[in-house]
Amino acid sequence: MNTARTTKIRQYLHGDPAEDAPDTYFCQRCDLFAPRAHFDGCVLGTVVKNGRRYHETHEWRYVTARRWWLRNFEPGDPRRIVDDLGNLFRTGTASEQGLPRLEDVGR
Ligand SMILES: [Zn+2]
Repeated sequence: MNTARTTKIRQYLHGDPAEDAPDTYFCQRCDLFAPRAHFDGCVLGTVVKNGRRYHETHEWRYVTARRWWLRNFEPGDPRRIVDDLGNLFRTGTASEQGLPRLEDVGR
C-alpha cells in the first residue's frame, strides 16, 4: 500500500485530469471535475497586469498556478502536487511553457 498516496491529498491544478474518474478534468474556477467540453463554456474573469485588464484564459490560470506551486511547495506539506502530463492546457515543462498572451479587455 502506498501510504504517501493515501495520506496526502492531491492539489489539483486547473485542467488536471482526475485520477479516479476517466475523461474528467479539474476546473479550479468551478471547483469541480468536468468533461473537456466544460472548459469551452466556462468563462473566467479578468486579470490585471500593469494597471490594465485582460481576459483571463484557461492556459493563463494553469500556467500561473503551476509556477506558484512549483516555486512555493515545501516538503512536509500535507498536500501533494503532480506536474501532470495529461493537463488540458499543458504544452511543455514549466520552463518551456511561457505565459500566454492575453487579450486586452479594452475600456
Ligand atoms: Zn468551470
